[in-house]
Amino acid sequence: MAFTATAQGPPEPSAAMVDDKRIDRIDEDEPGAWLAYGRGYNEHRFSPLAQINRETVKDLGLVWTRRIEVRHRLQSSPIVVDGVIYYTDSWSVVSAVDADTGETIWTFDPKTRKRVARWSCCGGPINRGVAVYQGRVYTATFDARLVAIDAANGEKVWEVDTADYRSRIPYTISGAPLAAAGKVFIGNSGSEWDHRGYVTAYDAATGEKAWRFFTVPGDPSEPFEHPELEEAAKTWNGEWWKLGGGGTVWNAMTYDTDLHTVYVGTGNGTPWSRRIRSPGGGDNLFLSSIVALHPDTGRMKWYYQTTPGDNWDYTATQDMVLADMVVDGEERKVVMQAPKNGFFYVLDRRDGELLRAHAYGAMTWATHIDMETGRPVENPDVVWEEKPQWILPGNTGSHNWEPMAFDARKGLMYIPTHDTPFFFALPEDYQKTGVYSPRERTMNLGVAMGAYRVKLIEEAGEPPERKGFLKAFDPLTGETVWKVRNKSATIGGVLATAGGLVFQGDGSGAFSAYDSESGELLWEFDSYGSIIAPPVTYQLGNTQYVAVVAGSSFAYYDYGKLLVFALGAVAELSVPPTRDLAIPKQPPMTASAEELAQGDKLYHQFCASCHGYRARGHRNADLRIMSVSVHGAFHKIVREGLLLELGMDSFSEDLDETETELIRLYIISRANIDREAAGLQ
Ligand code: CA
Repeated sequence: MAFTATAQGPPEPSAAMVDDKRIDRIDEDEPGAWLAYGRGYNEHRFSPLAQINRETVKDLGLVWTRRIEVRHRLQSSPIVVDGVIYYTDSWSVVSAVDADTGETIWTFDPKTRKRVARWSCCGGPINRGVAVYQGRVYTATFDARLVAIDAANGEKVWEVDTADYRSRIPYTISGAPLAAAGKVFIGNSGSEWDHRGYVTAYDAATGEKAWRFFTVPGDPSEPFEHPELEEAAKTWNGEWWKLGGGGTVWNAMTYDTDLHTVYVGTGNGTPWSRRIRSPGGGDNLFLSSIVALHPDTGRMKWYYQTTPGDNWDYTATQDMVLADMVVDGEERKVVMQAPKNGFFYVLDRRDGELLRAHAYGAMTWATHIDMETGRPVENPDVVWEEKPQWILPGNTGSHNWEPMAFDARKGLMYIPTHDTPFFFALPEDYQKTGVYSPRERTMNLGVAMGAYRVKLIEEAGEPPERKGFLKAFDPLTGETVWKVRNKSATIGGVLATAGGLVFQGDGSGAFSAYDSESGELLWEFDSYGSIIAPPVTYQLGNTQYVAVVAGSSFAYYDYGKLLVFALGAVAELSVPPTRDLAIPKQPPMTASAEELAQGDKLYHQFCASCHGYRARGHRNADLRIMSVSVHGAFHKIVREGLLLELGMDSFSEDLDETETELIRLYIISRANIDREAAGLQ
């Protein structure tokens, strides 16, 4: 696209002149592009490209790869504009590479402060990608800044701190920004860390703050920031603001060009337990809701709450897909979402009217949605405050942030789903006293942790097996037309194409193409990694490409990579060296049972959110397989920040030397138990 430099001020940017109209007309004008997070504003993740199709996909091969220098999870959804791919790593570093050759055009390192990694919800830093708009690339950093970069040269144009709101614990951002209507919209993460959720709109050109919408009310002794909160506050009880309340907009935001509306999906409550969060009940608006906002003013048009009085970490932050469809004989403009709670919602996006709400995943917490009231009917036999138990969906949801894809011609949604139960029980002290003691500098989930949790789980029995499924789902009838079981319960985002294909990766490292009619597996590639990021496709010249970001697998000594595929390509991925995952013989155990109980408590307070319950790490370092030399450096790592560059902060403010040693001994005790169970001598 041509541009003219203006006489006043700095020169106009010269690349990636994407605007609302261009994104809106992507199907008509640019079938080979991927201009926004979900390809176009409607978030379909469906491409009209068909060179790679049911017949030809057998010839799909690797063209080139780009190494991504991190070993954290990678969730970036690439954007492809004017022959350039823009993608991010876990630390929000942006790369612009030639989409044809993979050659670097520029990289931008926002120097994300590594110390924020510990304030992640679930195991280290994450970034889901950028927005490209009006010659700029916008990245939101894990330490909660929003940065505008000149798309032509990778130089910073402006930067704002989006966390300019009081917080005891740093805000983080994992989601991609949304750019539309002259603004950039961004939320934040961390409902588990006592945050109050909000979404902020900034002027795309200058970075000036236009408005902020808080998703939950603050301290009622202070003025409401905007009128919607006065109504919302009537649905809360107790002293929720002291722990923030939650409701963070940590993932999905969708712009509706037809109705000039921004939809934001809000997160769960803090703490998870509603009895603790809002004693006496209440719906707790606007938790777990789709909220429709005016993009110019931030005023609310309507809301729909998927899980009133959320009690299960059931966020409505999952992707929201826009479509025009005939429902019961009437042409409707709909927004569709499969939030964590297991129900698939079809709403009229003019006013939020509920049109459909079929279950798409296995669930025990509710029986159905009452279509008169629009509310879920909770299962009266599943009350975890009375009876601690495994509940489906668990806190990771039937569907999480991994985006789904919509084929409008077939009226089918391809949803990445999993059956992953969570064991819900009230904390021991609250159970005994009825008084909740908030925990400092650690997650406030309001559920049982540590040894008490282990004891309850032993009493309740083993959980149902964790499974991942890709489902072709009809939003109107609720029918699952086909489903395939993934090799892993860890599943990736989805791409659908006019070639009759559905692409998805999973935690086993497999990257697969299925027949969109039948679910038949037509092609598979081993990435030797773990794929959770959504694939994208684009065309340059006469060649259709498929691209996906693969994270490293714990099974290999390896890094992340961007993989690009095309028909007839034959590049090979070298097999990385495998990691020995057997738990080694442990250093001597010197702790008493009482000391181990203390170590257990401390471990679950400060370490478990990244390193796994009972020291069974799966995403980050599995501490049971620490070598003798790592044991030797343990205190330097934990108290002096020896591995800060990898995201392991110093805990010197939280743990003294004795406590650190108790944690180390607890890890040894867990390793010994698991070694014995594995029959290791
Ligand atoms: Ca959550």
